[in-house]
Amino acid sequence: MIIAAFVAALTGCGGNGRGSAAEGEPSTAVEAVRPKPPSNPTPDGETELLLVGLDGATWHVIDSLLAQGNLPNLSRLIETGVRGRLESERPIQSPPVWTTIATGKTREQHGIETFFVVRDDDKKIPVTTRMRTARPFWDIFSEMGISVGVMGWWPSWPAEEVRNGFIISDRAWPVRFSPNAVPYGTRRDETGSVVEWDFERRTWPEELFEEFRPFIVTEEAVVRPEITEQIFGSRAKPRQEMWNAYWVYAKDITFVRSGLHFLSKRRPRVFAIYLEGADVMSHYYWHYRPAEKFEISPEDRALFGDAVDRYYRYADEVIGRLLRTAGEETAILIVSDHGFETLWDLKVKWERGEEIEHEGGKGGYPYTHALHGIFIASGPGFANGVRVEGASIYDVMPTLMHRMGLPAGEDMPGRVLKEAFESNFIERHPLERIPTWERAEQQKSTDTIVEGPMDDAILEKLKTLGYVD
Ligand SMILES: [Zn+2]
Repeated sequence: MIIAAFVAALTGCGGNGRGSAAEGEPSTAVEAVRPKPPSNPTPDGETELLLVGLDGATWHVIDSLLAQGNLPNLSRLIETGVRGRLESERPIQSPPVWTTIATGKTREQHGIETFFVVRDDDKKIPVTTRMRTARPFWDIFSEMGISVGVMGWWPSWPAEEVRNGFIISDRAWPVRFSPNAVPYGTRRDETGSVVEWDFERRTWPEELFEEFRPFIVTEEAVVRPEITEQIFGSRAKPRQEMWNAYWVYAKDITFVRSGLHFLSKRRPRVFAIYLEGADVMSHYYWHYRPAEKFEISPEDRALFGDAVDRYYRYADEVIGRLLRTAGEETAILIVSDHGFETLWDLKVKWERGEEIEHEGGKGGYPYTHALHGIFIASGPGFANGVRVEGASIYDVMPTLMHRMGLPAGEDMPGRVLKEAFESNFIERHPLERIPTWERAEQQKSTDTIVEGPMDDAILEKLKTLGYVD
């Protein structure tokens, strides 16, 4: 069977990188108290947990759509599971927060402190996994014999070796964040010629990129009347304001379709997928939502008024497809790194024509990232119909580890959200901690600030979102 052969090849290739406990590594007192990885890792087979990251998803939109009966999958998961607000931290920036979610560590501990680092020559370099100084769940899980699959996490390039699983990094999608740039999937080299993007570690293992490649959707491909209708609710002719929706849908559709493929083919025990659309659609189309009460022309309202909500309906559909593909016995965690909100005080100023400034950028519109995102947990192991209070981004990793039967580290500031679990799950799995999961040698050094081939395009994207001056 092809799948079994591939899995065997995949699990057999660990053992020589930082993603695995290699022979001859310095053994520290701390490591001695870590649980020992199983000698025979559990093979892939059944997916036990889905982790869905929805950048910028907020209860503000979800609750209004739930009230209209519009999110059937989320509605079912919440009714039979756990919901709560997830407190983020300021400055509310996605790469540090997603890294906190994946590591359970503070920015200082994990080393991803903002969107980019400024090098000595003043060049801004978007963050990469090389700058990270704490171990993410995919590294720890795979070492402990829990197979993992990770799609598009921000940041996950260069894709790190995982002993037991696979990674499709955020840069596997050949970004082109400008309508007038070179053709999709290409770039200009130093001589100005147009060449195809080709660089290492877009995926782990490396050869997985060829399996991912056919799933790449370009923005040209989504600029079609039927997709425009899905995004905006009408078949209007494409215009400039639609372009941001086109690129983010192209990106998310790519990770969703390839994710469904890899999920059904590999069946890792933990499958994680990150989707950017709720954040990007909110940045560009929030003020058209009728509920936010901005003065918008009737034509624009008709065209864009539903764009944010439509993305949430798409995400709901994706969640349903992921669950159907993973199977009934799969638990699911859905989290966002922050919410989104209208800053009503600033809106009053803005409507009087005064200049406004907020964390989401200078000028622009008076709406931005909100401090609270979402937490949803449902399925085997999790409680039924419970609301968790006071959850934070620091609690996701300890909770995720507990669900997979591993103790959190004492150096993780968050807590296991005990009330999110079924009482007999907690009885069977007492809360335990070990001092740390970190390795002694994992220290930040300046040679980790290396340029990536997509840096300029990424900075351009961050500029259009108002994150970089
Ligand atoms: Zn975000």
